[in-house]
Amino acid sequence: MKSLMTGNQAIARGAYEAGVTVASAYPGTPSTEIIENMTTYPEIYAEWSTNEKVALEVGIGASIGGARALVAMKHVGVNVAADPLFTFSYTGVNGGLVLISADDPGMHSSQNEQDNRNYAKFAKIPVLEPSDSQECKDFMVLAYQLSEQFDTPVMVRTTTRVAHGQSLVDLGDRQEGIVKEYEKNPPKYVMLPGYGRQRHPLVEARREALAKYNETAPINRIEWGDKRIGIITSGVVYQYVKEALPEASVLKLGMTFPLPQQLIKDFAEQVDKLYVIEELEPFLEEQIKAWGIEVVGKELFPRIGELSPELIGAKLGNWNQEAAVAVEVPNRPPVLCPGCPHRGVYYVINRLKLTVSGDIGCYTLGATPPLSAMDTCICMGASISGALGLEKARGKDFARKLVAVIGDSTFLHSGITGLLDVVYNGGTFTTLILDNSTTAMTGHQEHPGTG
Ligand code: SF4
Repeated sequence: MKSLMTGNQAIARGAYEAGVTVASAYPGTPSTEIIENMTTYPEIYAEWSTNEKVALEVGIGASIGGARALVAMKHVGVNVAADPLFTFSYTGVNGGLVLISADDPGMHSSQNEQDNRNYAKFAKIPVLEPSDSQECKDFMVLAYQLSEQFDTPVMVRTTTRVAHGQSLVDLGDRQEGIVKEYEKNPPKYVMLPGYGRQRHPLVEARREALAKYNETAPINRIEWGDKRIGIITSGVVYQYVKEALPEASVLKLGMTFPLPQQLIKDFAEQVDKLYVIEELEPFLEEQIKAWGIEVVGKELFPRIGELSPELIGAKLGNWNQEAAVAVEVPNRPPVLCPGCPHRGVYYVINRLKLTVSGDIGCYTLGATPPLSAMDTCICMGASISGALGLEKARGKDFARKLVAVIGDSTFLHSGITGLLDVVYNGGTFTTLILDNSTTAMTGHQEHPGTG
């Protein structure tokens, strides 16, 4: 049976078919709908965790306990979860674990556009990049196989267009009864230095074994066409390449770390001019150039923002302008809802000319005119601790007109530790917790303060 699905729906479906029984996440665009869809499968325990680190730790516990686990977050959430991620790479899994990193090139709803493929390389875990909803589902099923076969967490990295785009998906059956036995195994799961030293060589051997596997992995494919142009690509950019340059030869990579060196060399040798087309960082390009392969990448294509068929076609000079449909889309920046109670708070802050250390959520929109009532906004939870730094830099008089503004979900996510620091270290500024008992910005998900 086929079903029209977003990438996020298909990821949830893939986890379901792979026999996942535990799923955890903190909401964040463009990842939020994954857990919302997991709750439609009664066989799966799914939770909103207090933050991404907690979500990953729940997943790690479930994996060690023998279950297949899914953990989902937006790209900046992986910063929060990085601590357990790097050591979990050393311990490996019992039941398979897949970490979804939903990246946001173009910053549709994010404070930066970091490329989380670098996290996979840094943590030495494989990363898969689906390019449509069918691949989202299929790659999930494969990711759990790889996780258990190679004893590693696996990252599945999407971008906004894959997460929210829709395409047809062939549905399959669920694999039942695959929860493994739990066995006490301190050398594998207790990362004291002595055990960690034993695990690190296994991680390096695993990286080499995965690279060898990737040489013939079914999720990489070559589509031969005009051999004057060869393109290496992955993820949603593959779709743009096919639209802009349907005649070109393409090496589409499904697993982008660790890379298949021989496959890439063989492809490169058979084309006249080789390009790597990828959004954001020159992640593939740098590794390919390090092998001495001549390739054109970021000297032609930007490392900022999203790519598009139009941009790729224009750069390679044969874009059929008549095929492009010019659509004028009105600019619609986000604003606070018309009756939002945050408006009154920011109106008063503006009138009092306070300095505002802001945070992430609906209330970040207090930064925009006519409220214009925010001085800083860095990351989840930074408002309170940042305000303490401002006070320590500028003194107690400055702190009289200094406020930290944070929402309830963000406060519980990571603001609460900042407040502990303020109390312990004698901060005197005012903290405002704008408590609406929900995670409003991402669509009203519950959290521990919801009640
Ligand atoms: S959804 Fe956000 S902007 Fe809208 S009323 Fe609620 S808190 Fe305000």
